[in-house]
Amino acid sequence: WYRECLSESTRAQRGREAHMAADMRVEEGLRRALRAGELELYYQPRIDLATEEVRGVECLLRWNHPERGLVMPDQFIPAAERSGLIVPIGYWVIEQACRRLQECQEQGLPAMVFAVNLSFRQFHDRKMTETIFRIIFNSNIDTSLLELELTESAMMHDPDYAQRCLRELNQLGISFALDDFGTGFSSLSNLQHLPISLVKIDKSFVQDLGESADAEHIIRAIISLAHSLRISVVAEGVETEGQLEFLRHQHCDEIQGYYYARPMPWQDLVQFVDQQNQF
Ligand code: C2E
Ligand code: CA
Ligand code: CA
Ligand code: CA
Repeated sequence: WYRECLSESTRAQRGREAHMAADMRVEEGLRRALRAGELELYYQPRIDLATEEVRGVECLLRWNHPERGLVMPDQFIPAAERSGLIVPIGYWVIEQACRRLQECQEQGLPAMVFAVNLSFRQFHDRKMTETIFRIIFNSNIDTSLLELELTESAMMHDPDYAQRCLRELNQLGISFALDDFGTGFSSLSNLQHLPISLVKIDKSFVQDLGESADAEHIIRAIISLAHSLRISVVAEGVETEGQLEFLRHQHCDEIQGYYYARPMPWQDLVQFVDQQNQF
């Protein structure tokens, strides 16, 4: 029995070592990627259900790897979080989003909200607000068009610090969205006490529509709760007309999903917005 335990723990140890070795390779690659400009943002439109116009975009990270091609975030963000590299990468993302936002203003594109994801790990950085301040003051943007998306669990490490960051950034005009709402550790008091102006219904609920009555009830409840607190609602992962019609019926404010558009490079987005907002 003892020997079995020992070999089990050796296997686990080897597993951890393999994991760490893989992390280190990703980490090394990401450091180079940041320097060499291999990271790119894709933009997924958020459509206003009432007017069908593009109201905003979510900025989503992609890695143009010299050998592996386009690498999706689930392939490298977890390692970037474990190593802490997500902190500088996260600032790069905000900087890039501000640059595009400025470009929008200069080219006379319709005003759109740019939403950027924040990792829980970024709340471990004691200079978070200071650094974001600096990025914003170096660009010339309307801060009310910058939105930061976070999950409720992102704030759990040090809720007081996280709350202070949110308040300070909110005073600058930045708004906040709760991502993947309804999954994980939802606490309704967050909606009341934090400067949250939007919730994003997790795509798992949207994709269960039509299959489970529970999904319908949950979505209805989220929308009615949010609206009664004057918080807007975006539904994620909308792929079908049926889902769209249900959400329209429930007065969901905006939808994001493959039904309208996948995340796309900047140039494609500019064209998409041009077409979509003409009608
Ligand atoms: P998320 O924040 O929940 O982002 C939404 C994800 O849903 C995106 O995946 C998007 O492409 C996908 N999606 C949108 N519409 C549909 C749909 O209709 N059907 C389906 N099946 N999927 C849809 P993506 O781009 O692969 O990103 C995955 C996750 O990686 C994001 O989930 C977010 O947690 C993380 N992520 C991406 N970019 C960043 C970033 O810049 N910083 C941080 N910290 N995390 C990021
Ligand atoms: Ca998100
Ligand atoms: Ca989400
Ligand atoms: Ca997610």
